Amino acid sequence: MKYISTRGGIAPIEFQDAVLMGLADDGGLVIPQSIPDVRDRLGAWRNLNYVELAMQILPLFVTDIPPADLRKLIEKSYIGPFDGDVAPTVKVGPAWLLELWHGPTLAFKDVALQLLGNLFEYILARRGGRLNILGATSGDTGSAAIYGVRGRKGIDIFMMHPQGRTSAIQERQMTTVLDANVHNLAVKGTFDDCQLIMKELAGDLEFKRRYSLGAVNSVNWARVLAQIVYYFYSAFAVQKATGAPAVQFSVPTGNFGDVLAGWYAMKMGLPIERLILATNENDILAVFFKTGVYSRGRSVHETLSPSMDIQVASNFERYLYHLLGQDSAKLKAVMAEFAATGRLKVAPGPDGQIDGRFVSDKADRKQVLARIAEFHQKYQYLLDPHSAVGVDVGLRLAAPDLPLICLATAHPAKFPDAIREATGQDLAHHPAIDALANLPARCKMVPFDRQAVRRYIERTLGY
Ligand SMILES: *Cc1c(COP(=O)(O)O)cnc(C)c1O
Repeated sequence: MKYISTRGGIAPIEFQDAVLMGLADDGGLVIPQSIPDVRDRLGAWRNLNYVELAMQILPLFVTDIPPADLRKLIEKSYIGPFDGDVAPTVKVGPAWLLELWHGPTLAFKDVALQLLGNLFEYILARRGGRLNILGATSGDTGSAAIYGVRGRKGIDIFMMHPQGRTSAIQERQMTTVLDANVHNLAVKGTFDDCQLIMKELAGDLEFKRRYSLGAVNSVNWARVLAQIVYYFYSAFAVQKATGAPAVQFSVPTGNFGDVLAGWYAMKMGLPIERLILATNENDILAVFFKTGVYSRGRSVHETLSPSMDIQVASNFERYLYHLLGQDSAKLKAVMAEFAATGRLKVAPGPDGQIDGRFVSDKADRKQVLARIAEFHQKYQYLLDPHSAVGVDVGLRLAAPDLPLICLATAHPAKFPDAIREATGQDLAHHPAIDALANLPARCKMVPFDRQAVRRYIERTLGY
């Protein structure tokens, strides 16, 4: 399998180069040149465990790593770091919940970032050289990325967060990791300030080359790829339990990385009848699938589900490329229009819809709190606020005759304030979160000043 860019400006590359490239060098997103059709293999895959299923799916996209090596990477990622099954499905009331929070930081991002950390280490060991990851986080991504690369050879990670503006739990999940290759930076400023520093430093090509700067954000193809596996795994589990010919998924969405993996699974031939795209009040994507208009919001709404508080979805370009008939010229024109005006428009198809496989809506604060309270009272099940967005929209938009699988993307203990507001009780606990309060922490305070961050990186690396 070779990889190309949505904007058509790079020669086809192998998977390992795609992983290191992150964003494509022409400013587009890296995508596989074709999507394998696996319909004739579904029967044989149905009873596989998570690792064995990953060993069937990943090699279709990873043809430049010997299968025996790939197996070791998959086993290292998914046996040990997760507390049992990577992606169990449980029936709760009218829905199936796909619990993706059994990894070290209790959010679904662990599924992809555990594998990405192992891939980075493997690639560097064979090619030589080092990788320095510079990131900016408002919460969940930072800790999952740090846990993905902690202690790995050849890699240092510098993660900036806005001082005092992430939740106390999120901050401690990052700063209590004391491995020598993990460097937390608390920037006196906002998340946008952190992102600005990251962009400026990564945009300084001399600096970028000198320190082999890499990125772990969700535009990395390996992250989407890792997520495809649990769509198959959970669909098989629910089909076995119900005998249903097909399933539908509801996905709480921010940067469009998670639901994009579901879309690829569907294109590969997994019988997914409907993809339900659920957003919070930041509903640019929900509006797009209803109207064809994709329009940047004026500002980000702060919601109970901060990991979905985004204005522009970084993975959307991959989907748009396919929607526009894999036509790079057309895509480039549309993206240029969006860059210039903050708005783009796609005409509906002959059926009057943008994409008959997607339905979408948002869930607001009131709906989320009500849904958390309802699931707690009726089913004694605690939804975190992100998962509650997916469940709420899913139950409203699901086709009645097919099982509904809702992605549960975080453990409620990460968001105890929302749980308290919804239920009036302090119910959300997890031993890993409770233990954070007593662990030593390490963090460097820096001003909102790119030179200060730069000097810190140079001094820390000492070359
Ligand atoms: C990142 C995140 C999401 C959104 O996923 P995308 O791939 O950005 O759409 C949803 N829930 C939680 C808990 C997250 O951390």
